Amino acid sequence: MEYYSKYINQLIEEFAKLPGVGAKSAQRLAFHILNLPEEQVSHFADTVVKAKANVRYCKKCFTLTDDELCPICRSDRRNQKVIMVVENTRDLAAYEKTGKFDGVYHVLHGAISPTLGIGPGDIRLKELMERLRDDVDEVIISTNSSVEGEATALYISKLIKPTGIKVSRIASGVPVGGDLEYIDEVTLLRALEGRTDM
Ligand code: ZN
Repeated sequence: MEYYSKYINQLIEEFAKLPGVGAKSAQRLAFHILNLPEEQVSHFADTVVKAKANVRYCKKCFTLTDDELCPICRSDRRNQKVIMVVENTRDLAAYEKTGKFDGVYHVLHGAISPTLGIGPGDIRLKELMERLRDDVDEVIISTNSSVEGEATALYISKLIKPTGIKVSRIASGVPVGGDLEYIDEVTLLRALEGRTDM
């Protein structure tokens, strides 16, 4: 890309580092930014920096939020005794979109994967077990139906079993290996309603 000057190249390279952005899209995004009015570019850059500086993990469920506790953990309209375990904040958002789940969540930030070297200590499992010391009726494991998601579900259910708390797994019907966020709301609801005890 020697035909572009240094700063243009650097901008293209930064965009190319983003997930799902190939070389062509990176160029398109870079030139789009360069063609924007100055104040729009400043606003965009500010928003990125502000989000990074202010967004943190909820103290209770570990989803990403601006406050100590996320709006779901703070809400008295949510059943704090039913905890749905998901792999990431995007999965949480997918269930929230259905509007039919009134419990709370626990975000693991990953799944156990021996091939990738991700063990139980690398996800927010210890924090989940600490939450179970409170009054909890049910833990619904909604990790993905990938190999890693299934292994994680099994591992968690074995950990929880001795506590006597009910553990369930969302029904299959969620495509194997499918990221929860790409599944439509009807499928998600059916998976939730058809959950089985583990
Ligand atoms: Zn929370």
